[in-house]
Amino acid sequence: MHFAALQSVDPEIARLVQQEEVRQDQCIRLIPSENYVSRAVMEATGTVLTNKYSEGYPGRRYYEGQQVIDQIETLAIQRAKALFGMEHVNVQPYSGSPANQAVYLALLKPGETVMGLSLPFGGHLTHGWKVNFSGMTYRAIQYEVDPVTHRVDLDRVRELALKERPKLIFTGGTAYPCLWDFGGFAQIAKEIGAVLVADIAHISGLVVGGAHPSPAGHVSIVTTTTHKTLRGPRGGMILSTAEHAQALDRAVFPGLQGGPHNHTTAGIAVALKEAAQVEFKTYAHQIVKNAKALANELLARGFRLISGGTENHLILIDTTVAAGERPSINGKPAAKALDRAGLECNYNTIPFDPRKPFDPSGVRIGTPSVTSRGMKEDEMKKIADWMHRALVHVGDEAQLARLRAEVIEVCEAFPPPGIRI
Ligand SMILES: *Cc1c(COP(=O)(O)O)cnc(C)c1O
Repeated sequence: MHFAALQSVDPEIARLVQQEEVRQDQCIRLIPSENYVSRAVMEATGTVLTNKYSEGYPGRRYYEGQQVIDQIETLAIQRAKALFGMEHVNVQPYSGSPANQAVYLALLKPGETVMGLSLPFGGHLTHGWKVNFSGMTYRAIQYEVDPVTHRVDLDRVRELALKERPKLIFTGGTAYPCLWDFGGFAQIAKEIGAVLVADIAHISGLVVGGAHPSPAGHVSIVTTTTHKTLRGPRGGMILSTAEHAQALDRAVFPGLQGGPHNHTTAGIAVALKEAAQVEFKTYAHQIVKNAKALANELLARGFRLISGGTENHLILIDTTVAAGERPSINGKPAAKALDRAGLECNYNTIPFDPRKPFDPSGVRIGTPSVTSRGMKEDEMKKIADWMHRALVHVGDEAQLARLRAEVIEVCEAFPPPGIRI
């Protein structure tokens, strides 16, 4: 990209932005919550819309001069409604965590009970984890995954729900490689009169593209980020039935936030338009095909995968299991060695991890970014091979540098959206 003004005003920041651009171009980015936005999305976010204050909602603002902003926000809302099939949409949450916070504010009083998937088992901080506002302010009950299948066991969830009577139940996670049974959760929520929330932050692109079942029709509230598989700018959305519309809107503004980030709203509108094209369906399905292909290649190399594989975009690997010449290694040094080789991922706890979250037993990888740059099953095989070799040669800088060179060569052939296309 060209940053003529930035270059002249602040060459230091311009140089760093350019370095990050090169890094994102020349790395195999496997962090499942990340992606490459299109040039159109990036252009929309870098506009004069950042200059405008718009507290309130379209047609009901506290500042004048909303002739244009109202149209932009309305377009974003209409596109989201059509894509996700929900009655009401709020596109103002600054990100996924504030979106969830607004749901709590709208529906729970401090001390009331919420239930969600426990963080070390793949859940998100905002689903009741103890160091997060959700766990500090509310009575949080956490479900886990089955020790053998690593899937959420609905019988266990139901037992817990009947015993603890949560008012709010969250589905969704950040490190869960299986499909969510929204219908099954809906029955449990109905039985105890709880409100069911689907936090589809990770999978919203898959849902829209038809590569994961949709929560619409099963849940009253959906929250999502806009920057993961959905491939928009960093932001959040809350979608709901008409019943919760007013409470949720009030919780976002004035409950939690002031002015919405209009430049982000425009970027979200563009991303939603892109997500309505047939190419997006192909992309969403290819993400899952790639993840399955990568999982199979890893299994063939003796890797232990949580749940035995994947049904979505992400894979959780227990790196402590040795195989052949590949030694047992903890998640953190594994992630560092992979990064040296140009394969970017994050260390992660695995279910029933005997190790601490800051030095856990696994790494988490995913295929949204590599799919956005056009990689397919053949490249997944290469990635599995690189991962294996990097972990065989942990600490051998010469070998890791050789892998790094191979990675750069393959990256060269797959121009990432927003950077080279
Ligand atoms: C990423 C994520 C969030 C939070 O999103 P931020 O934009 O990082 O605040 C919330 N819930 C789930 C399930 C997520 O994966």
